[in-house]
Amino acid sequence: PSSKRIALVTGGNKGVGLETCRQLASKGLKVVLTARNEARGLEAVEGVRRSGADVVFHQLDVIDPDSVARLADFVRDQFGKLDILINNAGISGVDRDPVLVAKVKEQVESMDVDQRVQWMKENSKETYEEAKECMRTNYYGAKLVTEALLPLLQLSSSGRIVNVSSGFSLLRNFNNEELKNEFNDVDNLTEKKLEELLDSFLEDFKANLIEAHGWPTGGSSAYKVAKATLNAYTRILAKNYPRMRINCLTPGYVKSDMSMHMGVLTPEEGASNPVKVALLPDDGPTGAYFDRDGVASF
Ligand code: NDP
Repeated sequence: PSSKRIALVTGGNKGVGLETCRQLASKGLKVVLTARNEARGLEAVEGVRRSGADVVFHQLDVIDPDSVARLADFVRDQFGKLDILINNAGISGVDRDPVLVAKVKEQVESMDVDQRVQWMKENSKETYEEAKECMRTNYYGAKLVTEALLPLLQLSSSGRIVNVSSGFSLLRNFNNEELKNEFNDVDNLTEKKLEELLDSFLEDFKANLIEAHGWPTGGSSAYKVAKATLNAYTRILAKNYPRMRINCLTPGYVKSDMSMHMGVLTPEEGASNPVKVALLPDDGPTGAYFDRDGVASF
């Protein structure tokens, strides 16, 4: 195995993921920048390499089992281990009118944060198909990648998994105490239980029962539930792999394609949080959620 620490980032071709790659490489790590689209990924790698960074590219679509398996083979053959996995790839789970998006991009600088959040609420239509896709990418995708790379992470002397979640994941967004407790009951939670909860969310979505059953409302319901699931999964993993540090976090409200550049932080600023959590010392927290100020409650 290589002596240099090796970090792998999903969705590394742009936004927070790209900046995470850049910053980890500038700290002397070897970075595997992955992207589902080969051309976009290679272009991103070229840009990062211009600053002398040690970055390699591999294709990875987190929802494609064959792609995930090929990536795991690549990491095993090339490096024989993995030190840091950053599950950053994500989608918003909402349908947006590209004409409106183009228009708001021109106005965004003159809008305050409340107006931006309001715009998002009013212009983010959720469909059942989008909601399903959101679960598939933001939770099942991260799980697929994690499971494929766990054997290699266990060969590291200080394995780390960093799940890029969101402030939208927080349980205060749920309006049903029972549901909240189920997501929070880390002693009894299993992946099976989590996935049953996701199934019931999708059934409720179809039946128009989101609000009635106390799921998060106010726009981006599926995204909020998917990220809450990612947090719960993080806690299950941390319990099962106590030697590793396994955490989740929010990068903050970042200007990126996902936020339609409405965020208040640059991708560089946003990426500082995943980078900080990825580089936690061996005796640092595990099974925790980090906001930009440090460990925060779920
Ligand atoms: P971007 O939309 O800029 O980047 C998302 C990245 O995920 C892209 O590289 C995209 O690839 C990739 N991706 C999506 N689906 C897949 C897939 N199936 N396989 C592989 N890659 C995929 O958004 P951000 O940089 O803002 O988001 C990064 C993370 O930060 C996300 O998990 C997001 O939920 C989270 N986050 C962002 C916030 C914000 O304010 N921006 C706030 C809180 C959390 P492609 O280019 O091919 O579409």
